[in-house]
Amino acid sequence: MILINENYTKLPGSYLFSDIARKVSEFKAANPTANIIRLGIGDVTKPLPQASIDAMHKAVDEMANAETFRGYGPEQGYDFLVNAIVENDYKARGLDISADEVFVSDGSKSDTGNIGDILGLDNIVAITDPVYPVYVDTNVMAGHAGELGSDNMWSKIIYLPSTSENDFVPELPKNKVDIIYLCYPNNPTGTTLTKDQLKVWVDYAINNKSLILFDSAYEAFITEEDVPHSIYEIDGAESVAIEFRSFSKTAGFTGTRCAYTVVPKKLVGYTKQGEAVSLNKLWNRRHTTKFNGVPYIIQRAAEACYSPEGKQQVRDTINYYLNNAKIIREGLAVQGLKVYGGVNSPYIWVKTPNNMTSWQFFDYLLHELNIVGTPGVGFGPNGEGYLRLTAFGTLENTEEAVERLKKIK
Ligand code: PLP
Repeated sequence: MILINENYTKLPGSYLFSDIARKVSEFKAANPTANIIRLGIGDVTKPLPQASIDAMHKAVDEMANAETFRGYGPEQGYDFLVNAIVENDYKARGLDISADEVFVSDGSKSDTGNIGDILGLDNIVAITDPVYPVYVDTNVMAGHAGELGSDNMWSKIIYLPSTSENDFVPELPKNKVDIIYLCYPNNPTGTTLTKDQLKVWVDYAINNKSLILFDSAYEAFITEEDVPHSIYEIDGAESVAIEFRSFSKTAGFTGTRCAYTVVPKKLVGYTKQGEAVSLNKLWNRRHTTKFNGVPYIIQRAAEACYSPEGKQQVRDTINYYLNNAKIIREGLAVQGLKVYGGVNSPYIWVKTPNNMTSWQFFDYLLHELNIVGTPGVGFGPNGEGYLRLTAFGTLENTEEAVERLKKIK
């Protein structure tokens, strides 16, 4: 008889985006002429940097020739990409990360989801809330989460509320935790932590022998000086943190797939007997056993993001999205709405007016203004009463949306 991993049966269906799609298509069927603007998407819309396109064309030609053809590459990534990452994302910021601490992968979704493979089942896991749902769901799949309560919270997960009440700076957990998921700049709130605020977490992890899983998929959107680009800017973080980075939002690789994870060699976990074990070694073992590397062509495309032209093209696109974010943020603030994020992030987190629930505000925007957002409650219980808008649309649509939003009463 085939036994299944019953943890999967505990997962409620992921209805958020399918519910949104259903509501939008029903509305469209009833109002075929409505010009719907989608500010709900978490996907980029601008094409890849030209430097990446050129690099891919060249790499395709290399694959057509026996002398330059590549088969399996190193699972951890080709040296040319790993070295470009180390030089540009770390050494250039004075951070001492070495090539064998970087693992190139097909996405931060996979890496943040798979990292649990090397961590023990008895760890107490804390997750900021609301947040990117993959952290919670993958902990459920691995049997770390306990049972889902009527409050939509998992019994074994420690939720760290991140709301306007605490200025989106979660408090340290009251009881000791072993694993902490942090995502900054945050999806969905668009908020960040300053260096001092992040240091509080690093110090906590050092004092409690905890591990921080730091997802900085939106690092490229950081504009403010005191916001760290890497957790390793904080003293001691290399002994307590794993960092996840992605080319998805940085350079439009959402459909092209390339990311990387840094697992410092100083980082250790423990056996039940208290013996220290290198997490870098464990992740290397996991990565090389279960993953066969990102395609050569794609790694060349990622490398090209670090060329002078590539850097400029990446910057131009990020600035385009950040300008959209500013337009949304300022347009809504003028309306008297409470808005957060959008300064170091493509996400704008809006407090719903008139005590509406997330879904009521979603329906209002769809029906009255023909704008699609994402209900905040879809990102966790503490997202109730908020809605996420994104800056990934076109400038024209963003401006039109803000015009319409002026009609909010
Ligand atoms: N981490 C966060 C916080 C995200 O919001 C996303 C995508 O939306 C990802 C990771 C996924 O990144 P990737 O495309 O590299 O899998």
